Amino acid sequence: MPTSQRPTRRRLPEFTLIRQIASRLPRRPSDVIAGIGDDAAIVRLDAGSDLLLTTDLLAERIHFDPRTASWADIGFKAVAANASDIAAMGGRPRHLLIAVALSPTTPVRAVPALYRGIRDACRRWGITLVGGDTSASASCMFLSLALTGIVPRGRALRRSGARIGDDIYVTGTLGDARAGLELLSRSVRRNGRPLLAGSRRFLIERHRRPAARVAEGARLSARRVATAAIDLSDGLSGDLRHVCEQSRVGAEIDAVRLPISQACRKYAAATGRSAIDLALAGGEDYELLFTAPVRHRQALIRLFGGRRPGISRIGTIRPRVFGLQLREASGRRAPLPNRSYEHFR
Ligand code: ADP
Ligand code: MG
Repeated sequence: MPTSQRPTRRRLPEFTLIRQIASRLPRRPSDVIAGIGDDAAIVRLDAGSDLLLTTDLLAERIHFDPRTASWADIGFKAVAANASDIAAMGGRPRHLLIAVALSPTTPVRAVPALYRGIRDACRRWGITLVGGDTSASASCMFLSLALTGIVPRGRALRRSGARIGDDIYVTGTLGDARAGLELLSRSVRRNGRPLLAGSRRFLIERHRRPAARVAEGARLSARRVATAAIDLSDGLSGDLRHVCEQSRVGAEIDAVRLPISQACRKYAAATGRSAIDLALAGGEDYELLFTAPVRHRQALIRLFGGRRPGISRIGTIRPRVFGLQLREASGRRAPLPNRSYEHFR
């Protein structure tokens, strides 16, 4: 704790807070020799694995907003987003460090609620919280996560491996999280058919508690079927661009093949929007996009057939000069709109 900034009276002292966090954690797995409590955590690595490292810095009002999301959801999503990065590399997330800077306006109840969401996510994906740091911020709250992952040696999935002629796939459905966010942040105008409560709940849940596709990423890397992968955090049309740039290729997406949930279709209809636009530009789906050679089609059907989430083949990798194009239902081709939700638009 910086000596110049004592915690305000209404806030828990730092060490009470750390003790509270540590006391509510489940038992450590055997590779974690020391977790919270010492100057650094000790993790034993096994030979034959590559270590994956990822970090995220989240600022209040920029990346999360306690006025529209619960503290538990904010914690859950922060972990899910990092787990999704590890999943996109084909790895299994393992050890988490969390640094928080509490603002003068952060309510006392925020921290235990935040960590409740964090623990939920950790349990779901087999992650161990091994440490962090606690500080104060003069303005808004900051939340920083660092997550490790492991992947069998040499098997990490990269953005750079897509080859001309490869199929393009995504897991799950696209656009749900964006629809859920819109449902939360404004009252949706309904032209005609009202949105059923069930659809509403589903879309909001997809936004509040995204599912990082850890098992799916690990399956792809274990079977050596994918040539490239990325997780969809900004939206398909933006994230596909990263794969294409790093692989030096172009891509063609087939609009009619985009996987869109019934709930998202109903939401689009109720708001007079295009479901395809939601699927292309909607951020925070945290599904995986990957590419695979055509010869692996049958293997992929076997690998994902009958499971949830399923996968959808949505397009083809083309030469770089082709650029990124969308093949519409009519058969007409148009440049893939670049309308992902970025922070610095
Ligand atoms: P240091 O002075 O070395 O930074 P701290 O007193 O900040 O040590 O932390 C003591 C222990 O508590 C360390 O193991 C650290 O990783 C852990 N820790 C501190 N803050 C958090 C937090 N917000 N979440 C989880 N663990 C934390
Ligand atoms: Mg510290």
